[in-house]
Amino acid sequence: MSIMEKKESFTCPHCKEKLPFRMLLIVKNDHTFKCPLCGEALVPHKTKSFTWGYIIGFLSFALPQQIVFYLHQDNGLAFLIGILHAVTAIGLVSLYFYFNTKFSKAIVLSFTPILLVVFGRLLIHTIDFM
Ligand SMILES: [Zn+2]
Repeated sequence: MSIMEKKESFTCPHCKEKLPFRMLLIVKNDHTFKCPLCGEALVPHKTKSFTWGYIIGFLSFALPQQIVFYLHQDNGLAFLIGILHAVTAIGLVSLYFYFNTKFSKAIVLSFTPILLVVFGRLLIHTIDFM
């Protein structure tokens, strides 16, 4: 086990910089995106926490709303409580993602332009010979 290989959460593997918190909004499972700092392609590690995050976010809105509505029969209050819970839960889930999400270099994507160039050159050569 090497300490050098330990990856920091929410850090770009190319430039080793901490990614901005707002990047959480575009991070999805198996979804490649560009580092806003160096422009290299990244992919988040496979995790179930994204799905759970959405479920928790939804439940934290729906459940308190239902409970408050049941107790007080007040739709406005129920909605307000629901929103407050959802905001709190989404905030916590976002923090959890921020401290637990790790990124890898998107190798497949970074090789694609090279392959395209090689393929393009082969095509040009083939056309030249015809
Ligand atoms: Zn970067």
